[in-house]
Amino acid sequence: MDNYKINTKCVQAGYRPGNGEPRQIPIIQSTTFKYDTSEDMGKLFDLEASGYFYSRLQNPTNDYVAAKIASLEGGTAAMLTSSGQAANFLALFNICECGSHIVSSSSIYGGTFNLISVTMAKMGVEVTFVSPDCTEEELNGAFQENTKAVFGESIANPALTVLDIEKFAKAAHSHGVPLIVDNTFPTPVNCRPIEWGADIVVHSTTKYMDGHGAAVGGAIVDAGRFDWMAHKDKFPGLCVPDESYHGITYGEKFGKEGAFITKCTAQLMRDLGCVQSPQNAYLLNLGLESLHVRMPRHVENGQAVAEFLEGRPEVAYVNYPGLPSNQYYGLAQKYMPKGGCGVVSFELKGGRRAAEAFMKQLKLAAIETHVADARTCCLNPATTTHRQMTEEQLLAAGVPSGLVRISCGLEDKEDLVADLGQALAAV
Ligand SMILES: *Cc1c(COP(=O)(O)O)cnc(C)c1O
Repeated sequence: MDNYKINTKCVQAGYRPGNGEPRQIPIIQSTTFKYDTSEDMGKLFDLEASGYFYSRLQNPTNDYVAAKIASLEGGTAAMLTSSGQAANFLALFNICECGSHIVSSSSIYGGTFNLISVTMAKMGVEVTFVSPDCTEEELNGAFQENTKAVFGESIANPALTVLDIEKFAKAAHSHGVPLIVDNTFPTPVNCRPIEWGADIVVHSTTKYMDGHGAAVGGAIVDAGRFDWMAHKDKFPGLCVPDESYHGITYGEKFGKEGAFITKCTAQLMRDLGCVQSPQNAYLLNLGLESLHVRMPRHVENGQAVAEFLEGRPEVAYVNYPGLPSNQYYGLAQKYMPKGGCGVVSFELKGGRRAAEAFMKQLKLAAIETHVADARTCCLNPATTTHRQMTEEQLLAAGVPSGLVRISCGLEDKEDLVADLGQALAAV
């Protein structure tokens, strides 16, 4: 499928049925798989043969969908996880351990921020956060002897900052570590981080990839380019024999193309078990089949809503990387020329009360914590996700009380703009 355009890959990559086989991806709803001899099964346990034995590690339905996502991102291998949180944790923990250090953009999803700064800190993994806008000197200055990875989001949720992927990749590679990019918001239809130097790409497939608010899930894709064996001291997990797999050295046996995902499946899925259910993988694939048709509409609606809001007197500012007035317009044009996503944030001059009154008036946009759904949804962080914070803390966090985040769905943009207009008039 590699020679086909991304639109074709969205529809057909991953699963290629043979003669007389089902056209739709089969849901292999089975925890286990049958073998004729113990010897046959033993080969799987030694990683001598590829195949399935228990769905906590691998399942054919998941593998079809993971192969599609690998193809969309331009990677060599991929795996599905139970959630985006699990994908981020596994991608980092596959190469980090107690005593390791991560360099991360400070502009990332709140859940990932907590994962890295609180939960992984308890495991002895340190982090240095850098502004995505930092200079190359500042970025290089964040590295330590024990740094194992650099992390950032192509478009950050919810700040909507755009990552300068080449700048982060260059710094990572000059320190002998991979760049991990969370590409949830633009999806590979709009941005392919591997083409700009990223080594590992992660997703919350819960968002646009599923796109219908139906199933929580995640994915990890390996670009297959990072030379682990050239950095043996840094990545013992990939470069030293794994005693729990009869002394296999992943970096040697599976090469640059397969080592990362094989180790992540064989060790971390085996031990942590955060696997996606085949039912959810099937739903995810239904979303992927139309991803290339949906993303341009999300962008078109986001752009229309952002332009409308920017012209309104009740609005203090609009944050959308597709607006020429936006700080990240240039980076967005470079890394995602077809547009980024449908999420827009804006501040109402009337603060918290105006935001609450405005959102009550909306007829199409529902109040939800979700984003990236076919149906438009919105959120006022000050009265919901960030409600424990004082006015001062909200301002310091860059979340003023009048801030509204709107995730533009697939409705008609004229209806969305009209809905916003009548709600603004009522404030
Ligand atoms: C939602 C989200 C996550 C977490 O994904 P879940 O599927 O909710 O676990 C991680 N990163 C980004 C950018 C997200 O938007």
